[in-house]
Amino acid sequence: MSTKDFLEKDYYKALGVAKTAKPAEIKAAYRKLARKYHPDANKGDASAEERFKEISEAYSVLSDEKRRKEYDEARSLFGGGFRVPTGQRPGQGGFGFDLGDIFSGAGDAGGRLGDLFGGVFGGGRTTAQNRPRRGADVETETTLSFGDAVDGATVALRLTGEGPCPICHGTGAKSGTMPRVCPTCNGTGQSSRNLGSFGISEPCKECHGRGLVVDDPCPECSGSGRAMSSRTIQTRIPAGVADGQRIKIAGKGAPGERGGPAGDLYVRVHVKPHPVFGRSGANLTVTVPATFAELTLGAEVKVPSHRGAPVTVRIPPGTPNGRTFLVRGKGVRRKDGTTGNLLVTVEVMVPQNLNGKARSAIEDLREATAGQDPREELLERAKEA
Ligand SMILES: [Zn+2]
Ligand SMILES: [Zn+2]
Repeated sequence: MSTKDFLEKDYYKALGVAKTAKPAEIKAAYRKLARKYHPDANKGDASAEERFKEISEAYSVLSDEKRRKEYDEARSLFGGGFRVPTGQRPGQGGFGFDLGDIFSGAGDAGGRLGDLFGGVFGGGRTTAQNRPRRGADVETETTLSFGDAVDGATVALRLTGEGPCPICHGTGAKSGTMPRVCPTCNGTGQSSRNLGSFGISEPCKECHGRGLVVDDPCPECSGSGRAMSSRTIQTRIPAGVADGQRIKIAGKGAPGERGGPAGDLYVRVHVKPHPVFGRSGANLTVTVPATFAELTLGAEVKVPSHRGAPVTVRIPPGTPNGRTFLVRGKGVRRKDGTTGNLLVTVEVMVPQNLNGKARSAIEDLREATAGQDPREELLERAKEA
C-alpha cells in the first residue's frame, strides 16, 4: 500500500470500529471479518477477495501503534484543514488551501507529514503556512442599560463566524466518503503542457488546482467544506464603559490553527440613555429643577443618586440659574478603584400657573424691585465700540 492510501481509505470504517477503539477491539473485529471474507471460504468470489484485502490492509495499519498514530494525525489534519474552492477560480494555482501546508515538507510539524506524503505528491509546494497560526480577531456588539454600563455586567455574546463544516469536518465530502487524490494531476493541482520547446504549468482542470476531487459533495455545505457557525460566550464588561467604546477581550476571538493561540474579541458597546442621569467620563450628571425662591433665598434640596438613596445638596442664597454642584464619590467607578462625582445642575422652574397667594407675592416682588432694570448694564455695554 502507498501513503496515498492514507488519504483515500477509511481503515476504521473498513473494520467497522470506532476511531477510539482499543487494540483488542480492533483485533476482534479483524478476526471476525477475516474469517468471513477469507478467500478459502469464498472460492471464486472476487468481491469477497477485494474485501479481504481491504480488511487486511486496515488491520496492518491500525494494529501497529506507530502507524495508527501517523494515520490518525494525517487524517485529522486533512479533515480539518482544507476546502474546495466554491467559485471555481482557474487562476488559483496549486493546492486550494492547506494541502500545500500538509504536503510541503517544510518546517518541523509539517516535515513528518511531508515525508509521509512526499512520495505521492512529488514534493508538493513549499509554503511557510504550516506553522501554528493565531486565530482571527473577532468583532461584535452589545447594548447595555445605563446602569449596567456604570456598574459593569456579565453579558452573553453570540459570535458568528466561518469555520469547518460540522457535518463533513471541512472535507467537503458527503458523510462516510472522503475526497480522493485527483487522478489527472496525481494530487499536484498542476497540469503541464508542452508547447514546442518549453512547457507551461497551469491549474489542473479536473480538480481546479485543489489536488483532490469530491465525488459526493456534502449536502450541508455543497462541497465547500465551510459553514457559518455561532457560539455564545459569557463575558464580563467592566464597570464604567461609555457608549461607543470598544473593549478588547483577549483570547476570545477565533480559535488558532495548528496549536496557535486564539485571536482577540472586540466588543463595541452601546449604552442606552437614562431618563434622569447622563455621563461625562467618570462623572454622572443630573439636572435638578429649583424654584426662584430656592435659588434666591438658599435651600437644602434632595437630588437623586444612581442606585442609592437621594443625597442632599445645599443651595446657597443667590445661586445663579444653571450652577453645577458636585457630590463627591457618587459617580462612576474607575479602573483604578477611584470613583467619579455626581454633577448636579440647578435649573430654575418658571411656574406656569400660580394660585392667588403666590401670584400676589410675585406682584409684590415686582413692585418692590420696580426701580431696578436688570438690562441696564447690558444696554450700556452694547454702546461700546
Ligand atoms: Zn460539509
Ligand atoms: Zn487535478
